[in-house]
Amino acid sequence: MVIDFHTHTFPDTLAPRAVGGLAESADMMNYSDGTVSGLLASMERAGVDVSLAAPVVTKPHQTEGINRAAQAINNGFTGRGVLSLGGIHPDTERPERVLEDLKARGFRGIKLHPLFQGTDIDDRRNLRIIEKCAELDLIVLIHAGLDPTFPGVEHASPKQILHMLREIPYGKIVLAHLGAMGQWFEAEEIYGRNVYLDTACTLYPWRNRRGGVTDFEGYIALTNERFTGLVRRHGADRVLFGSDSPWTDQLESRTLLKRSGLTDAELRAVLGGNAARLLGLEEGT
Ligand SMILES: [Zn+2]
Repeated sequence: MVIDFHTHTFPDTLAPRAVGGLAESADMMNYSDGTVSGLLASMERAGVDVSLAAPVVTKPHQTEGINRAAQAINNGFTGRGVLSLGGIHPDTERPERVLEDLKARGFRGIKLHPLFQGTDIDDRRNLRIIEKCAELDLIVLIHAGLDPTFPGVEHASPKQILHMLREIPYGKIVLAHLGAMGQWFEAEEIYGRNVYLDTACTLYPWRNRRGGVTDFEGYIALTNERFTGLVRRHGADRVLFGSDSPWTDQLESRTLLKRSGLTDAELRAVLGGNAARLLGLEEGT
């Protein structure tokens, strides 16, 4: 089973504006239209069985609506297809109640995006949320490192992430982008810790809307050698395939991973085995 642990979808009515706006503000190419049906078509092409959608709540009052949309996605999940995390904002009111509610409704976890949410990952509001997730056994997927939409802004730097992990050493934290998008050389202390890392946008060059390579703060994709070195250093049993669709092409992301130099056993684990275990999905095929 192939599982893409890091994708984004938007409700059909919002997708054109949301994807168009983000593509414009960061000058990023988009490879699907950002709808659930667009993602399903991409999965078909890429041979992906399950995609995990990670909703980002950018304003506290959106929490309920975003989780309603996420619930609708999960209601259509058959063991294959799109499964959604829940969303929460550091300033969401009564976050403990929201998380308990998500747990009761069968959500596997939540997504935090410190840059879009304008809050340090080691801020006490985020720590409060992560602590509650640990109590409820919910996965916490966290954007880690830099972001092309926010050049020069640091809310999830390796230093801040390490501080967060010292405060709450929780094994179901997933750090996106191999722990530190564009800051891998400062993230040495993250590797080997008891957390998961996803591979989104690590082997993949960010492309601008003209098809050229986006250069933000000197960001360059990892070489195969550096990528496999980091995966092995961390432990391939805690690395998860992610594409960040629609911002990369799922098929190309999968192909780049396949050609990275990981062994067949490592690839099986990274492409789906680890995620199936973490999400509690049947490995079926
Ligand atoms: Zn993402």
